[in-house]
Amino acid sequence: MNIPFASFEAMHSEIREELDNAYKSVLDSNYFIQGTQCKAFEEEFAAYCGAKYCIGVGTGLDALYLILKAMDIKTGDEVIVPSNTYIATALAVSYTGATPVFVEPHIETFNIAPELIEEKITDKTKAIIAVHLQGRPADMDAIWEIAKKYDLKVLEDAAQAHGTKYKGKRVGTLSDAAGFSFYPGKNLGALGDGGCVTTNNKEIADKVRALGNYGSDYKYHHIYQGTNSRLDELQCAFLRVKLKELDKWNDYRKKVAGRYLSEIKNPLISLPLGCDEEFDHIYHVFVIRCDRRDELEKYLDENGIGTVKHYPVPMHLQKAYESLGIKEGELPVAEEISRTVLSIPMYYGITDDEVSYVIENINAFK
Ligand SMILES: *Cc1c(COP(=O)(O)O)cnc(C)c1O
Repeated sequence: MNIPFASFEAMHSEIREELDNAYKSVLDSNYFIQGTQCKAFEEEFAAYCGAKYCIGVGTGLDALYLILKAMDIKTGDEVIVPSNTYIATALAVSYTGATPVFVEPHIETFNIAPELIEEKITDKTKAIIAVHLQGRPADMDAIWEIAKKYDLKVLEDAAQAHGTKYKGKRVGTLSDAAGFSFYPGKNLGALGDGGCVTTNNKEIADKVRALGNYGSDYKYHHIYQGTNSRLDELQCAFLRVKLKELDKWNDYRKKVAGRYLSEIKNPLISLPLGCDEEFDHIYHVFVIRCDRRDELEKYLDENGIGTVKHYPVPMHLQKAYESLGIKEGELPVAEEISRTVLSIPMYYGITDDEVSYVIENINAFK
């Protein structure tokens, strides 16, 4: 059997005709940027999340960057980010001129450990970015408790978490503003790059919208030195088709995860957490850990099972962040995660037999 790590096949074949029609309707409309598709998608995604505002932007990275800019975060400021996340979270901070300050995660949840935030707060700290990594929400109440004590802004990086819930509320509504990515491989993905910001704060919404549109609040009138970061009509039309399927796709992933969680029984493997009443999970990726990860990776590959490491090198050990001067050993949890993680096949349409095959092979690893 050959099982890829991820696949678009089942998703896209079921909605192929609708995607074709979406393309044609944009072509015929002669509107390609900021037309009716964008407006409709923003309203539909805001309603889906339960947020007051949604602003389409160019990428998930831009979403976070534009929120930070809208909050006036700049050179000399510090922003708390988890030490274990995709590098985009930290790059959004660096792009404003501010410094990302890494806080270690809990190894069981992979998400930021709220009790470790306080010791990293200085008089330069302006905000905390809570990442809902892998599709599991961060512990927002605990994060807010610290943010309130020190008068900090809170952002969500929801790039991996479209539709997941924390204490019954969807992510994207649990902070001052949230950034989503519609990179094709995310749970809600465009057919190209895309992203959005959701918020209940009108001031942030207006400012993000202007900043992403050349700093313009009204055609040819510019109140900020903005940039160009917009979600185009074609992607919005595709995303509207896909948004209708998102809950079904997420539920499918949860069912696959449920089987992995109950049927993988190998003492060499640590499993991620399941959903509970407070913490939902939409399994953007299903990440197992193994001390002999590289051997496991090779073994699964030899048996036709695709895997990916999320992520093989923590941010503080990347050349890009050499300038922060953080040495190996200083963020041991992030390092341990990088050394041991392996994401196994997880996608809409993986069959029961394929899931069984993955489970059997993992259980047979010695
Ligand atoms: C994908 C991702 C981003 C960046 O999104 P892009 O659309 O690729 O710019 C940011 N944060 C996390 C956690 C991500 O997984």
